[in-house]
Amino acid sequence: MNSTPRAIRPHIVILGRCNVGKSTLINALCEQSVALVSEQPGTTTDPVFKSMELLPFGPVVVVDTAGLDDQSALGQERVKLTERALRKADIALLVVDRPDPTPLEQALIARLEKGRLQTLIVINDRGEAPRATPEGMCVVNALTGHGVRDLKERLASLLTAFYEEQPLVRDLLTGTAPVILVTPIDKAAPKGRLILPQVQVLRDIIDGGFTALVCRETELTHGLTQLAVKPQMVITDSQVFKTVASIIPEDIPLTSFSILMARHKGDLAEFVQGIEAIPRLKPHDDVLIVEACTHHSQEDDIGRVKIPRLLENKVGGRLTFTWCSGPNFLANLSQFKLVIHCGACMFNRKEMLARLDDVRKAGIPMVNYGMLLAYMHGILERSLKPVASYE
Ligand code: SF4
Repeated sequence: MNSTPRAIRPHIVILGRCNVGKSTLINALCEQSVALVSEQPGTTTDPVFKSMELLPFGPVVVVDTAGLDDQSALGQERVKLTERALRKADIALLVVDRPDPTPLEQALIARLEKGRLQTLIVINDRGEAPRATPEGMCVVNALTGHGVRDLKERLASLLTAFYEEQPLVRDLLTGTAPVILVTPIDKAAPKGRLILPQVQVLRDIIDGGFTALVCRETELTHGLTQLAVKPQMVITDSQVFKTVASIIPEDIPLTSFSILMARHKGDLAEFVQGIEAIPRLKPHDDVLIVEACTHHSQEDDIGRVKIPRLLENKVGGRLTFTWCSGPNFLANLSQFKLVIHCGACMFNRKEMLARLDDVRKAGIPMVNYGMLLAYMHGILERSLKPVASYE
């Protein structure tokens, strides 16, 4: 459980005024002392992230944040960090100490509702006797643990409902024929392991009770001849899309890890629309390339070299590229004609949707690496067929 990466754990972000019991609640939820608890307002400064198992749902991250009414000199900075944590939130737990919210809490509730963030209001009742639960709220005593079990069950059922709506691949599979996963092992591949999207897809296939054959593109032809039946689907890394498409007969569904991730974490229909911006690009247009993590750039790096080269060849001139990597997203997007995002394997779904929302509000089209590569290689239509529900 502890090795489940944070990016694939839903995030539950605890919010509230100073000294309302947020840190006591995270300690009660995790059943250990995760956050420092004190009577002193503003004890929690930076968000505290704690991975835990929320049964029967599974692994999650619970985040304790600084008080929203933190008046200290660093208060504004802390509020910014809370805002950043909220972008990853699948559920916001607003901790209050009375059923009638203060104006600050009311404003926050309105904002969370506007952002369509699932919000649960938790009254931390520090009195002796538990009171009746107001409609739609939970009552706990974070110190004694009263009500915490019910709260956990409620969180688990909200997350189960949300994630059942977001399949990765198994809902596209039927029957007993195996799936082939093509995972190139090039210089960019990490030593001794597969990258996260490949592991996630493989796990989803296994969880669905299906079988898989995993190979590099160089062994794909041989792998096909070893199978007694035709594979029901081939899923490839985008970088070898063209090679794989030339090997796999047209009647075998072919897609990519990136397309599955776009469907799982982002909004596939929006990315498909974003592709339409590529033929409209003109020389000197501004293009933003975004990577969700910082990593050492490789020779022929996909984001720094391959995609810019392909786009400039298509446009027939130089484009102006801006690169942005890591958790910070550019505040002003207005100059860009296109945003190209990596597969975002280090982000959870909520964070990716928050980015899509920023880009949508700025009126800029957005695509991801895999879809752009499939389009450039003339196989986007084929690679979208297995996930046709985007229409
Ligand atoms: S750049 Fe994006 S897709 Fe690549 S490893 Fe980082 S988060 Fe994952």
